[in-house]
Amino acid sequence: MIPAPHSYFAATYINARQNFLTAAEESGAAVTKHIHPLKGPRGEELALDVVAFGDLDAKKVFVTMSATHGGEGFLGSAAQTGWLTEGRYHDIPKGVAVVLMHAVNPHGFAWLRRVTEGNVDLNRNFLDYAEPVPEKLEYDRLHAAICPDDWTNSALKEAQNILNAYSEEHGQKTLNRVVMGGQFSRPDGVFYGGTAPTWSRINILATLDAHTANADHIALIDFHTGLGPSGHGECYIVGSEGDPGVEKANVLWGDNGVTVLASSGRQQAHAGYNLTGIARELAPKAFYGNTLEFGTHPLNDVYHALRADNWLHLHGDLNSDFAAKTKAELKEAFSPDSDVWREAVYTRSMDVWDHGLRNLVNL
Ligand SMILES: [Zn+2]
Repeated sequence: MIPAPHSYFAATYINARQNFLTAAEESGAAVTKHIHPLKGPRGEELALDVVAFGDLDAKKVFVTMSATHGGEGFLGSAAQTGWLTEGRYHDIPKGVAVVLMHAVNPHGFAWLRRVTEGNVDLNRNFLDYAEPVPEKLEYDRLHAAICPDDWTNSALKEAQNILNAYSEEHGQKTLNRVVMGGQFSRPDGVFYGGTAPTWSRINILATLDAHTANADHIALIDFHTGLGPSGHGECYIVGSEGDPGVEKANVLWGDNGVTVLASSGRQQAHAGYNLTGIARELAPKAFYGNTLEFGTHPLNDVYHALRADNWLHLHGDLNSDFAAKTKAELKEAFSPDSDVWREAVYTRSMDVWDHGLRNLVNL
C-alpha cells in the first residue's frame, strides 16, 4: 500500500534524513554522502546525501534538490522520499539519469534556519566572486531598521516606522526588492550572499559535475517554501521572454504556470541566484532550472519570523522561551502543520517532477 503523502513530511532534519536514507536503501541505489564539517543542534551528523538512477552516462539528466533554504527543506525532502518510496524510479524514460540531492544546506535544515552556517543565503551565494560583489546601498541604508539591535516592542515599532516611510515614498514592491534582493556588505543582515562560495555551493557544483560529464541537457527542480498563496506551487525560471532557453523551459515545465524572472535590467532577478550560477558553471550544456516555490503563510508573517531568527542567532539565547517560540514560528512558516497543505504541495510537486522528466526526453 502506498503511504499517504503527509507521512513523508518529517518533524526534524534527523527524521527527514533517516526517511530519505531508508527509502534510498530500499530502492537499492547507492548513497553518496557529503559530510558537513559542523554538527546539528542535537550533535547529529549533517550531510548532503545523493542518489542517482537510470542511465548514468545519459545525455539528459534530471536533478532535484531540497533545503537550499535550510528549514524550507521539509517539502523537498518529502517529495524526494515519496518519489523513492513509491518506486517512481521504475518509470524513468530511457536515456535519462535522475539525481536526487537531499539537503544541500543541511546546517540550515537541522538548525531550522533559512541560511547556511555563517548566515549566508545560499540562493544569493552563486556570484562569480572573481568580480566585485554588487553594492546594495539602499539595503545598507535600511539595515538597522530591518535588523534592529534590540528585539523589544518599542525598537520594533521604531524600525517599522522607518520601513513604512520608505514604503510610502518608494512603494512596497521596491522595499521588498531592497530587503530580499540580496546584499553582500552586512554578514549580520538578512539575505546576505557572502563573500566566498559556501560549503553547500561547493558540494552542489561538485555533485552536478560528477553526474553530468556526458550530459548536454540538464533540468533541475529546486524546492522552496514560504512565498505565494498557501499551498500554491509556482515555477520560476530566470531569463528574458523570447530567449530560446526560456522557450524550451516553457515546454519543459509547461502547463505549470511558469513565471520568468528577468536576468537583466532594473527588475533583474536576485544577485547570486543559485540557478543562474549553476547555469554559468554548466555552460555550454543547456540548463533548465526551476525554482518551485510553495506558499505557506502571508509574507509579513514569514518575513517577521526570519528577522526574529536573525536577531536570535546574533543577540539571543538559543535555550530561551523566545528561541522556542521563534523556532516554532519558523517551522510553521516553512512547513505548515496541516495535512491539507502537505497533500496539496506533495501532489503538485509530483506533477511538476513528472511533467519535467517526460518532456526532457523530447527536448
Ligand atoms: Zn526559499
